[in-house]
Amino acid sequence: MSATVTPDLLSLVMRDVKAQNYINGEWVDGDSTFVSTNPANRTHVIGTAPMTSRAQVNEAVKAARAAYTSWRRLSWVQRAEFIDNLAQVLKRDLEEFSVLVTTECGKPYNEGRADVVESLHTAQYVAGFGRLPTGHVLSSEIPAKDAYILRKPKGVVGIITPWNFPVAIPLWGSLPALLAGNTVVIKTSEETPVCGWRLAKAFEDAGFPKGVINFVSGDGETTGDALARHEDVDVILFTGSRAVGKMIQQSAAAEAHKFVATELGGKNAVIVLEDANLDIAVNAALLSAFKTAGQRCVSSGRIIVDRKIEGQFTERFLDLAKRVRVGDGMDPSVFMGPLINPDGLAKWQHHNAKAKEEGGEILLDGQVLTGPDHVNGNFASPFVYRFAQYKENTFCLRQEAFSPHCAIIGVDGLEEAVRVYNDTEYGLSMAVITEDFRKWRYVRDHADYGLGYVNLPSIGAEVHLPFGGVKGSGNGNPAAETALEYLTHRVAFTVNHAEEIVMAQGLGTKV
Ligand code: NAD
Repeated sequence: MSATVTPDLLSLVMRDVKAQNYINGEWVDGDSTFVSTNPANRTHVIGTAPMTSRAQVNEAVKAARAAYTSWRRLSWVQRAEFIDNLAQVLKRDLEEFSVLVTTECGKPYNEGRADVVESLHTAQYVAGFGRLPTGHVLSSEIPAKDAYILRKPKGVVGIITPWNFPVAIPLWGSLPALLAGNTVVIKTSEETPVCGWRLAKAFEDAGFPKGVINFVSGDGETTGDALARHEDVDVILFTGSRAVGKMIQQSAAAEAHKFVATELGGKNAVIVLEDANLDIAVNAALLSAFKTAGQRCVSSGRIIVDRKIEGQFTERFLDLAKRVRVGDGMDPSVFMGPLINPDGLAKWQHHNAKAKEEGGEILLDGQVLTGPDHVNGNFASPFVYRFAQYKENTFCLRQEAFSPHCAIIGVDGLEEAVRVYNDTEYGLSMAVITEDFRKWRYVRDHADYGLGYVNLPSIGAEVHLPFGGVKGSGNGNPAAETALEYLTHRVAFTVNHAEEIVMAQGLGTKV
């Protein structure tokens, strides 16, 4: 699917939307509202959205619990039909969604559209699961017994999502949850509440029964916390920062039944080995570092380069980085949009300052952009620095910057490259650039990551693959491919076909 910005698309830009919560099939206001603006132009108000109170979160969970009884009685195939309806709605409204994602979260239009295409693919993929086996039959030690393993829904699933994939991420977990017979409450990000509201409308258009899917908007401290701590929620799928994910896991540990799946941040890297094709290396590194202005969980803040080619690589990388055009994502010539909010800019500045303080050699001193095209947005240009020798225990090389902030680190050979790569608390995404199958195999087997790539950027996952990290990057994979594993209980079910009771392990039955 191509992505060109036409005047027709510009006519789809939304302004002053009055977004509401979607609870029990009804559109409802919150106790108060907050404003969502375009990060490329803060004078452009996308809309107002409800700030949802704890009491209203409770209403949403109650609605989901009430709907669970009848939703779980439908067959998997019947529930898949609703998801197929949603796929059709997403396809119908693809351009409208894409423009909204671009204007509310700032990603260039091509990326906004890719977000929506990813959602469509998720819906198509999960709908197909409705006709796959939902359990299996096993032999028993006792010939007259049949044993089954069956998947049963867990109940009410709470989903808390970040702003950077405001349409795709809410669907990663919610669609498998719904397919399996769970009901859902989604708390969308306070940065992209209108995207959440628009997604709720798509579910309404798809005809889901009332209460099966509920959407609330609001902040983390009240709305998110109320959902995460709610005692009648059985599973929490959290995608966001490591700090918040850890907090939610800790609070859920107080409830024996509650499972929390977390998808957290990363300090990802592209490893460029001495035999790399430099055209691929430079392009892959730039896309990994600066696509989405570095605001992907899989963005690479580190380019680890073999010293033998570091000079050549760096020269070409900097040439390309200087050509990155920063601006409003609806302008087709723009490569990099704004940061999501002024806090994002402040975080970028903090990480840049730490790089200077910790001894990084500054190669491209990124600036906050304030010219006529940028004055009302949260724009920054790429910041690139170098460590000729790896320096352990540095903040800038170990902590997620979530912004266009990137280090080039010189190393001697394959083994040092992997050692440096592994020296963070995270383990999300890794790309290695090499023509040598023995070298990528070594990296494949010795680096810690959930997503590995060869001769590609560290970004660009597809929905039918697992998406998740190891180490501090999370404990599970809310993406659709694996979600059914923890959105269902795998129960054992044994049937005796004999006229008497015969027990396994030779257990006696005489009373
Ligand atoms: P965030 O952690 O600030 O917020 C994520 C969500 O959590 C939001 O909806 C927020 O309102 C909510 N929240 C905040 N505090 C809460 C609390 N105390 N209780 C309950 N909910 C709370 O993250 P963000 O700024 O929206 O997104 C950026 C982060 O997300 C980055 O670290 C990025 O790497 C990560 N991320 C990870 C993945 C992944 O799949 N691994 C994908 C996208 C983003």
